[in-house]
Amino acid sequence: MNRKGILYIISAPSGAGKTSICRAILSFFPSLRQSISFTTRELRVGEQDGRDYHFVSPEIFAKMVEDDAFAEWAEVHGNCYGTARATLEQASEEGADVLLEIDFQGAEQLRDSGLNGVFIFILPPDMSELRRRLESRNTDDTKIITRRMANAAGEISEAKNFDYLVVNDVLDQAVEKVRAIMIAETSRTERIINILPEEFDLK
Ligand code: 5GP
Repeated sequence: MNRKGILYIISAPSGAGKTSICRAILSFFPSLRQSISFTTRELRVGEQDGRDYHFVSPEIFAKMVEDDAFAEWAEVHGNCYGTARATLEQASEEGADVLLEIDFQGAEQLRDSGLNGVFIFILPPDMSELRRRLESRNTDDTKIITRRMANAAGEISEAKNFDYLVVNDVLDQAVEKVRAIMIAETSRTERIINILPEEFDLK
């Protein structure tokens, strides 16, 4: 029997360092696949359609929702984001491990649908550090920062439903923790019992 792929779902409030952590993790595990979401938001400078996201119009997104094409989707900061069922199905057929960088609402939908994934939530050390990080980005105005801080409080209160909480105080250490979680998950009994030699008589 072939090994089944593992889905890693990583969520965090904006400013907690999720993107940096995911980037580092993807470079550690070359066979780990990044799920490319669909979004209605505008393409930012430096982004590429099909690499960072599939950028679609609100109409196309709405049609995909109607067609039940998403395994999960949510509105985040005024735009819609979703993970296509097809992306997860293809990875599952190919036994590939996939990293999903999605918001907590999407993570909740996946968990409620019974998806067997590894749910990891990245936390800032505390709220004042989160504010400091958002302010030091210099990309958002005060109104946006205030909104993101308010959203963050709500998002963090959902963190208790995740399998793992990783505090990102020092980036390298947070990356190391996520990496350790991922390595440990590959040795879970339920994941490897079916691929061990028959002669072990473990089934
Ligand atoms: P950004 O626009 O900054 O790339 O992403 C904004 C937020 O949307 C981030 O929290 C990101 O994790 C989340 N996001 C990205 N793709 C998806 C997705 O497919 N589903 C959900 N639910 N959230 C997503």
